[in-house]
Amino acid sequence: MKYVHVVEPGKKFKLNKISSEAPKGVVREEAEASFVALASELGEIQEELYAAGKHSVLIILQGMDTSGKDGAIRNVLREVSPQGLRVESFKVPTEEELAHDFLWRVHRHAPRKGMLTVFNRSHYEDVLVVRVHKLVGKKSWSRRYDQINEFEELLSENGTIILKFFLHISKQEQEQRLLAREQDMAKAWKLSAGDWQEREHWDDYAEAYEDALLNCSTDAAPWHVVPADQKWFRNLAMTEAIVDRLQNYRKDWKKTLQRMSQERLAELAAFREQASQPSAV
Ligand code: AMP
Ligand code: MG
Repeated sequence: MKYVHVVEPGKKFKLNKISSEAPKGVVREEAEASFVALASELGEIQEELYAAGKHSVLIILQGMDTSGKDGAIRNVLREVSPQGLRVESFKVPTEEELAHDFLWRVHRHAPRKGMLTVFNRSHYEDVLVVRVHKLVGKKSWSRRYDQINEFEELLSENGTIILKFFLHISKQEQEQRLLAREQDMAKAWKLSAGDWQEREHWDDYAEAYEDALLNCSTDAAPWHVVPADQKWFRNLAMTEAIVDRLQNYRKDWKKTLQRMSQERLAELAAFREQASQPSAV
């Protein structure tokens, strides 16, 4: 069963028409059990990805403040070996980053073959926050959709499997989460007055997200909208979409691994054979 909404290339949509809640009838206990199984399967898949070394995986995570990007990374990837995983968080660009094209800072973090990389925020900020706060003119940011599509096509044609997730929370849920952070000393460090300020721009962000997702959802690199008001459902929906996509490559990776195993075993047998021969001298 599919729990995420896949944005169809070119088909207009409104975020507020897509539910941010778990669908009726999905039972939390069952969802949690399915998630545990899928997370563990993702761990196995990552081992095959790593060993086969033929592809890389790039997961791009976007969402409003408090939408749960950090929690999603912690949960969804909990069974993935840290040796095969990189997480890159993109903050306000440095002076050096700003002195380059907007893709410069992200391209160098694209995953090498065998690796799984998560972008916690990404080059999409350059058509989101940059647009909402008018950090560059419309003429510049509106060209970036094509530039992003070409960049992602380049990665994809070179063996990178790209999955993009928008964690969709409601405005009310965001308020609850911000208020909850004030009550919890262990979480209050995450607060910033800026979060409340950004909230004032909710509708502008929604519009910027709609355009970004619409213009940059491609067959090779689709955008997924994840209902994220409930963390337990978000975990299930995201993990399911990742496993579902990577499933298509497993046969190929397993075949490669089998061939590699046969080669290694043959090398070992040849080595033993040679070692058992009486020496020529
Ligand atoms: P956080 O994810 O809460 O640590 O915040 C990172 C901040 O960096 C967010 O407010 C982003 O909007 C901001 N940010 C990330 N990329 C860019 C960018 N390209 N231009 C401007 N601000 C950015
Ligand atoms: Mg923040």
